[in-house]
Amino acid sequence: MNTLRDTLAMGARSLSFEFFPPKSAAGERALWQAIRRIEPLSPTFVSVTYGAGGSSRDRTIDVTKRLVGETTLRPVAHLTAVGHSVAELRHIIGQYADAGVRDVLALRGDPPGAPNGPWRPHPHGLRHAQELVTLVKESGEFSVGVAAFPERHPASPDWDSDIRHFVAKCRAGADYALTQMFFRVEDYLRLRDRVAAAGCDTPIIPEIMPATDVRQIRRFAELSHAAFPEDLAHRLEAARDDPGAAHRIGVDHATMMAERLLAEGAPGLHYITLNRSTATLEIHQNLGLSAAVARHQPGRHQ
Ligand code: FAD
Repeated sequence: MNTLRDTLAMGARSLSFEFFPPKSAAGERALWQAIRRIEPLSPTFVSVTYGAGGSSRDRTIDVTKRLVGETTLRPVAHLTAVGHSVAELRHIIGQYADAGVRDVLALRGDPPGAPNGPWRPHPHGLRHAQELVTLVKESGEFSVGVAAFPERHPASPDWDSDIRHFVAKCRAGADYALTQMFFRVEDYLRLRDRVAAAGCDTPIIPEIMPATDVRQIRRFAELSHAAFPEDLAHRLEAARDDPGAAHRIGVDHATMMAERLLAEGAPGLHYITLNRSTATLEIHQNLGLSAAVARHQPGRHQ
């Protein structure tokens, strides 16, 4: 199997897009419209987030299976340890394997209903993402990704422990990492330097979130503890009644970040789409990048 790590090691840059499982028929239509618009770019992979509740989890599995069966895309299934025993996790991993999914993003997850509340593992479950990496790797031929935090994980008491635990989950078998959203390129660069200084060379792919709606972004940034630059916030606030102008400000800022990240040697870009394609496609077009990214070749990772 050719893992994403192998692809990156060959010098190619990754291009990927993140979706979430929709809750309604209209949401389902919007998602598949976005997927069909993104598919011609031949991204390296697309990922589908994993929710806290049972029905949302089933929808993640359904969307991921449809991506395998009905598109040329390579889906990465997010999976969290929240509320699952080890036996349940094994069952879900088995469902993915049966459906032909070969890529899992192994996450601890957050306490349902209180993302910043205290973490309580399932009594028969796993405590940290590191253990989920091991479980997925033991369960079959999977390429496994993990989460990285440019402004460190909000529960980490200091950088030393944050980097130590990050490196431990990489050494448990992670092939690559995807970052939490961030809005200052320096935060990503410092994280990368800290991880390299700890002797870890796992590729860390930065996540790009086009900030086109200030209220929505502030809420996301609060939940993820990402610092939101005040000058960007002011410009977006000023364009509050002009969605077209706000859209351009968000796309321009994200383009500027993406250009700098690539110039600094980032191994690719992972776009949060919120199940829409316009902003991410515009950024991608601004970058004029399509020939430089790693192409997914169907069947290559089987
Ligand atoms: P861990 O790596 O387990 O780290 C969590 C905390 O525990 C950190 O402070 C870490 O330093 C500490 N820690 C780790 N190992 C140890 C140890 N051995 N001993 C002591 N402390 C330790 N959430 C969802 O619910 N669904 C999703 O689909 C989803 N997708 C995401 C995608 C990306 C790219 C990112 C960055 C996050 C995503 N999240 C998602 C959020 C994620 O689940 C939370 O941020 C969660 O709080 C941390 O998950 P983790 O996998 O980094 O946990």
